[in-house]
Amino acid sequence: MTDPGKSPEYDGIVIGAGFAGLYAIVKLRELGFNVLGFEKASDVGGVWYWNRYPGARCDCESYYYSYSFSTELQQKWRWSQRYAEQPEILAYLNHVAEQFNLRRHILFDATVERMVFDERANRWTVTSSRGTATAKFVISAAGCISALQKPDYPGLDAFAGELYYTGAWPHEEVDFSGRRVGIVGTGASGAQAIPIIAKTAKHLTVFQRTPNFVLPARNAPMDPGFDDWVKAHYDEIRTMCLNSPGAVPFEGSKISALDVSPEERAAVYQKAWDRGGLRFFVDTFNDLITNKEANDTAAEFVRSHIRSVVKDPRIAEMLSPRSHPIATKRPPLGDDYYATFNRPNVTLVDIASTPITSFSARAVRTAEASYEIDTLVLATGFDAMTGALLRIDVRGRGGLALKAKWAEGAKTYLGLGVAGFPNLFTVTGPFSPSVVANMPTGVEQHVDWIAGCMNYMRSHGLEFVEADESAEEGWVAHSAEVANATLYPQTSSWYVGANIPGKPRQFSVYLGGFSSYREHCERVAQNGYEGFAFGR
Ligand code: FAD
Ligand code: NAP
Repeated sequence: MTDPGKSPEYDGIVIGAGFAGLYAIVKLRELGFNVLGFEKASDVGGVWYWNRYPGARCDCESYYYSYSFSTELQQKWRWSQRYAEQPEILAYLNHVAEQFNLRRHILFDATVERMVFDERANRWTVTSSRGTATAKFVISAAGCISALQKPDYPGLDAFAGELYYTGAWPHEEVDFSGRRVGIVGTGASGAQAIPIIAKTAKHLTVFQRTPNFVLPARNAPMDPGFDDWVKAHYDEIRTMCLNSPGAVPFEGSKISALDVSPEERAAVYQKAWDRGGLRFFVDTFNDLITNKEANDTAAEFVRSHIRSVVKDPRIAEMLSPRSHPIATKRPPLGDDYYATFNRPNVTLVDIASTPITSFSARAVRTAEASYEIDTLVLATGFDAMTGALLRIDVRGRGGLALKAKWAEGAKTYLGLGVAGFPNLFTVTGPFSPSVVANMPTGVEQHVDWIAGCMNYMRSHGLEFVEADESAEEGWVAHSAEVANATLYPQTSSWYVGANIPGKPRQFSVYLGGFSSYREHCERVAQNGYEGFAFGR
């Protein structure tokens, strides 16, 4: 057993112990690299360690929101539900850590604060809250949706009740019974938590700034017959994921929403709605994110559903998104979301027209009213994509700060490397398909590519690798061109950083499709890592 952090030198330092960090350790160790992990949390799990709020579960189905790297693991592990709940996903990642003996490589409660590249030695010195280590390579697996954003509400300190963030939920169960609860945020976290909290709270007040399109998950216990089928077909399922634009095992529709009659269109939407899940955007029509007119048909389908479920027409209209095309903010999945607003113990408050102005010991106040609250839940999101890395003081060549380099917006080559920052790899970094593809598949593809590059360097006696500035510029420009052909960049969402005051507006996800991106990365490697420079 190694004592993490005690060895002076490592081949690779991995930041984070979620899906990405754990697999990076597996892979690097398999290739004989000496590896150390730093993790801010007290244990493994990443997102599934931190987000323990009621109702937290995945919105990709568990049979493919899981690792593919071990046949034994995927054959033995049994998911109990179509979309596993947070405790089950965390148990899965704990099982992986135990099965592959990963904890012995990880220093927990260790927040990486600073990392500096030494150009003479071609090594990174990484300083954490629990000590310093050096390594030839740093693999950032710090997460796309891991840097919690606390809204800067003046006067929040005056609130004397219980205050919880969905993204940093306590480990003990929170009991809402008999309590007047307020929740701010109706993104994916809020949409999952609201129906559950409403069931036990004395009263739930939902403070909504922007209504979202919430699609039904249709969660259900995992059917044993389907589970057997999955296990017998895992190779084909994983291959489909690798070859699909969203890293999911489904064929996408090839039909435009505008090429069918309104009756046919409604039937297609209804069938996908009844099946449930984000497959709605894969199964129905192929132009929902590229053509506003096509998008409007899907948006109106969801709004008509809201009107059919929510009894009070005024509340139904408040819940109906009008300000953004469907899917340009990540659509949450949830069962019973809209029906929850029919409950007598639930109040919906529109804080777009009457923003929160202040707090008192037991109330949230808007310009129009005061709402008595014992418990406040903030489901207000994350500084996504760049937040986790930029919270570290990263210094590359010539002391260049990553914060300075990315001051006007992130720049990467393939979401894997950053010019000026040799031997630093970013797993699912900006301008990779990251959050628009099923993430475990994306994580494995990135880690395999990174490990392949490290192996190549070892066998060629190379000391550093660095993205070319011109390759980086070309990739960022290409990514922007692809994104601008869609409706995504028009919407103020966390995808473009609009939720973070002062953050440069930029759509930093590669939208060209996971399969073509993966093939591109493979070609780059086959061509001697085209677009990267090496040194001895
Ligand atoms: P993370 O799981 O975010 O892990 C990053 C780790 O890095 C964290 O443990 C963090 O503590 C650590 N870290 C960060 N900074 C530092 C530092 N400075 N020092 C030390 N450690 C640090 N994606 C999907 O594809 N499908 C889903 O269904 C899905 N559901 C989600 C549900 C929730 C509630 C959330 C928040 C996200 C969800 N996602 C989903 C996206 C999610 O980010 C990925 O699925 C996946 O968890 C990414 O794994 P990761 O290891 O890359 O990052
Ligand atoms: P989010 O999507 O960013 O939603 C944050 C919510 O809080 C939004 O409704 C936002 O309103 C509101 N908000 C933020 N700051 C506010 C402020 N100062 N005042 C008032 N309202 C404010 O965050 P999230 O719900 O945590 O989800 C983030 C991402 O994590 C998701 O998109 C998804 O990718 C992932 N996730 C997935 C699941 C899942 O089902 N598997 C669950 C949770 C999270 P505006 O829209 O007006 O900004």
